Amino acid sequence: MTPVLPGATIGVLGTGQLGRMFAIAARRMGYRVHTFSPETDTPTGQVADVEVVAPYEDLDAVRAFARDVSVVTFEFENVPAPTAAAAAERAPVRPGGHVLHTTQQRLREKAFLTGAGLPVAPFAAVRSLADLRAGLERLGTPAILKQAAWGYDGKGQVRIDSPAEAGPAWAAVLEQECVLEAVVPFVREASVIAARGLDGAVAHFGVIENEHRDHVLDVSVSPAELPGRLAAEAVEIARTVVEALDVAGVLSVELFVTADDRLLVNELAPRPHNSGHLTFDACVTSQFEQQLRAVCGLPLGSTEQLRPAAMANLLGDLWRHGEPDWATVCAFPDVKLHLYGKSEARPGRKMGHLVAMAETPRRARARVLAAREALEGGRS
Ligand code: AMP
Repeated sequence: MTPVLPGATIGVLGTGQLGRMFAIAARRMGYRVHTFSPETDTPTGQVADVEVVAPYEDLDAVRAFARDVSVVTFEFENVPAPTAAAAAERAPVRPGGHVLHTTQQRLREKAFLTGAGLPVAPFAAVRSLADLRAGLERLGTPAILKQAAWGYDGKGQVRIDSPAEAGPAWAAVLEQECVLEAVVPFVREASVIAARGLDGAVAHFGVIENEHRDHVLDVSVSPAELPGRLAAEAVEIARTVVEALDVAGVLSVELFVTADDRLLVNELAPRPHNSGHLTFDACVTSQFEQQLRAVCGLPLGSTEQLRPAAMANLLGDLWRHGEPDWATVCAFPDVKLHLYGKSEARPGRKMGHLVAMAETPRRARARVLAAREALEGGRS
């Protein structure tokens, strides 16, 4: 298959920070970038050559967008199926619609994972209050009820601590199809970001350790301090997923590590991942350049990590007293500041992140947290 070479135009469906960093990587290599979403002046649009503004349901606009580019990729997995199909009439869409189909609905994703023999938390499909009651009886409490569609960052999720909470929980998820999961008493969370080229080659960035706050990623550290056997197992899980799903592109696997040293897959995302932002500064090839290489049919790049690194997210809460004092963080010579160009800072909204590099992962984590604390200083 002929590769899409520098100078060509890449289309990105979605316009958030993942698309922005993808576009930066692509433009650096001389590609042009067109992006498509219903919004204007977006994180991706600000650094793209062309920002197309139209609803995802406007399939003629989607076809026109795809006609003008050599390949289409996406930066969020909830791209509606008809949108991906309309784009595919005019240009290759990578990863393909079948990958979106599996990963944008939690029950389909679980069916795929269990079918591939991969470990997941005990779960039950819930389509009615009776299903929920039966699921709680089987799995016990505490449990988490998650809407099957449109979920991310803990949205559309309710924790259930006793069977008596079934009714209110079912109302809270708006009586939508759900998956009920036993709460996993994990000791750590981790992720593996893998890429698969058009030629079937697979690359990965090793295991990254993640800390969440209020269901949202807060801090990532790479490499994770995991026993070698577990790290190898995590990478094998990611390889199995990208091969079984026939992915052309980047895919992230979120994992729980249990106290008895078992891995369970929490979630898949068929795109770069927040935990991999540190690869932009710390690796020979970032997760974004890797996505570009994979969807363009180029050979995958080296994922070698140059130094241990840690990333801390900057959420909108940091703006509650106005624009943070960026000079404070720029005074840390070993810390990189990334801002996404979002004009409105709502609490919980991902506005940017910091990356620190150091001689050890622990030292990098301490430095990135020190930088973020300095930014928060005097503002609470
Ligand atoms: P998700 O939206 O499924 O990625 O969940 C976001 C975060 O919620 C995870 O990274 C965990 O910190 C937590 N979480 C989700 N599912 C479970 C579970 N079954 N047991 C324990 N914690 C969970």
